[in-house]
Amino acid sequence: MSAFAKRLARVSVSATLKVAAEAERLRRAGFDVVDFSAGEPDFPTPTHVKHAGKAAIDANFTRYTVAAGIPELREAICARYRQDYGVDIAPTEVLITAGGKQALFNAALALFDPGDEVITHAPCWPTIPEQIKLMGATPVIVHTRSDDGFAVRAEAINAAITPATKAIVLNSPSNPTGALIDEATVAAIADAAAARGVWIIVDLCYEQLVYDPIPHNLPKVLFERHRDRTVLAGSASKGYAMTGWRCGWSVAPKELTAAFNVIQGQSTSNITSITQKAALAAIKGPQDAVFEMLDEYRRRRDNIHAWLTAHPGISCVKPQGAFYLFPDVSALLSQDGIRTSAEFAQALIEREQVVVVPGEGFDAPGYLRLSYATSMERLREGATRMLRFVESLQPSGAGASH
Ligand code: PMP
Repeated sequence: MSAFAKRLARVSVSATLKVAAEAERLRRAGFDVVDFSAGEPDFPTPTHVKHAGKAAIDANFTRYTVAAGIPELREAICARYRQDYGVDIAPTEVLITAGGKQALFNAALALFDPGDEVITHAPCWPTIPEQIKLMGATPVIVHTRSDDGFAVRAEAINAAITPATKAIVLNSPSNPTGALIDEATVAAIADAAAARGVWIIVDLCYEQLVYDPIPHNLPKVLFERHRDRTVLAGSASKGYAMTGWRCGWSVAPKELTAAFNVIQGQSTSNITSITQKAALAAIKGPQDAVFEMLDEYRRRRDNIHAWLTAHPGISCVKPQGAFYLFPDVSALLSQDGIRTSAEFAQALIEREQVVVVPGEGFDAPGYLRLSYATSMERLREGATRMLRFVESLQPSGAGASH
C-alpha cells in the first residue's frame, strides 16, 4: 500500500459496498432478496432514446468527438435550460461529461487545492466529501436535521465560511434525504459567497425529479447573483433513466469550462459518441417519459412513506425529490443487541433479506436509506418484511436474568 500515492489514503470506499456484497451472497444462495439499495431508476431508457443510440451505431457515428462534447448536444442543453429555467447559457459554458460525477470531479480538480476548505451539507452523497479529500482539500460539513425537514439553512452554511473557504457544494434534490434547498436559501448563500469570492457548485443531478409544485429554479437564482462563480452539475442518468450510458454535463463560466476541457482532454476525452446522440434525443425530444416516471415515483413515495411511518418507531421526512426515503430508526435501536443503524441494516438482511443502506454511509447514523426506484409490488413486500422485523425486535436485556 505504501507504494501507492498518498492521496489514496485520504479517501474511503463506498459504505454501500458491504451491504451490496451481502445481498449478492444471499441472492446467489437462492434467497428472495428485496433490494432497496439501488441508486438508479428501475425503468428502461425511453424507446426514442434507445433508437437514437442504435441509429448512431448504424450511421457509424463511432469515432472520437471533440472532448467537450458535440456542439448539437451542448446547444440542446442550453435550449433546455432556457425552456426549463429561463436562463441564457452559451455552448462555451457547457461541457459534456461521463455522468454528473465527472462534472463534479472536473470541478473539484480545477478548483480545490490542498489547504482549501470546501463547505457541504450532510446527510450527503459520499462522493462529494470524498472528492474534496482526494484533492487534498478539507470538507467542512454542515449537518441538517430531520426534525427540521433536513432543510439546509443559509445561516449555518454562511457561518462556516472562513478565509480558507474555496467553495460551497450544494445538492438539491438531495441524495439521500430527498430534501430540496429552497430558492431563498440559495439566494442568501449566493450573496454571502459573492461577497467573499467563494465558488458555489450545485449538484442538480435529480433536478427533474421534484414531486410537488415547489419553485426550484436554482440556476436562475444563482445566475442573477453569482454567475461568474457558479458551477452546475447535471445528468441524464436519473431523469431519463440512462445511468449506464454515462452522460452528464457542467454549466460553468467560459474560462472554467475551458479548464475542464483541458482536464478532460488529458484524461477521458469525449464521452461515448453513441451516448451523445442518445442524450441529444433525450434532452431535445419529447419529455413525456420523464413525467410518466415522475408520476410513478410519486405514487411509490406516497405509499412506502405511509406504510413505514404507520409504525410509531419509524419517523420519516416526506421527500420532495429524488427517489429515496431516509427514515429515522434511532428509536428502534438498543433492542435485540442492535445498537447502530449499520447493525440494524445487517440484521434486516439476515432475518428478512431486505437490503437498505445504513445512514452511516451518508454521515447520518441512526437512519436508513431506501430507494423506491423499484416496483410497487416489491416495495409492498419489502415494507411488510421490514415491519415484521421491527415487530420482532426484543428489548435488549429481556430475559437476560434467566
Ligand atoms: N449526484 C448525486 C447526488 C447522485 O446520487 C449521483 C448518483 N448516485 C450522482 C450525482 C452522479 O450520477 P451520474 O454520474 O450517473 O450522473
